[in-house]
Amino acid sequence: MLREKRLKKLQRRLSRKYSKERKQSKLYQSSNYHKARNRVARQHLKISRQREEHAKRVARCVIQSNDLVAYEDLKVRNLVLNHCLAKSINDAGWYQFRQWLERFGAKMGKITIAVPPHYTSQSCSNCGSIVKKSLSTRTHKCACGCELDRDFNAAINILKRGLSTVGHRGTWVNDPNDWGEGTSTFVGEILQEQVRSANQESPCLKTGECQP
Ligand SMILES: [Zn+2]
Repeated sequence: MLREKRLKKLQRRLSRKYSKERKQSKLYQSSNYHKARNRVARQHLKISRQREEHAKRVARCVIQSNDLVAYEDLKVRNLVLNHCLAKSINDAGWYQFRQWLERFGAKMGKITIAVPPHYTSQSCSNCGSIVKKSLSTRTHKCACGCELDRDFNAAINILKRGLSTVGHRGTWVNDPNDWGEGTSTFVGEILQEQVRSANQESPCLKTGECQP
């Protein structure tokens, strides 16, 4: 937030240097105005780089410590249209985070699944019935006796949905050889690959060659 404070300060300075008269008489703004404008631009760049770094760091950590990652297939572009949420969503860098998650997943051979986001927070992770709640309701309380934090309940639903896709039909995950969008491989192939590499390792474990 420090950087954001600095940005606000720079923006205030910039607006003080703006001259309406110059604009009206179609003159170039003062050189001090342009210096200030440049400072604002550089601060914006710093903030966006910092955000990207953060998304990358967290995504790498999540992929390294899990074999399968399921997440909601959110349409960030639509969510941003909600003005109350727009700033927090952009600040959190959801879109970048998801992209890094998929990239690292493909690179490290982990499964990443985007699940449809419908009713993930409204349905009960224990019995499946719908429990309506607004965004400000932070706890999930169901008639079946299930009481959970709102986000924890949603997370269980997302994971369940992700696992059911893996079990029943082919789920598309990114091809490790292609970081671009669109190309995909079957989860089965990745799993087979993992089994193959496990088999290659097993004789070594049996004979104890790996142990010192
Ligand atoms: Zn329930």
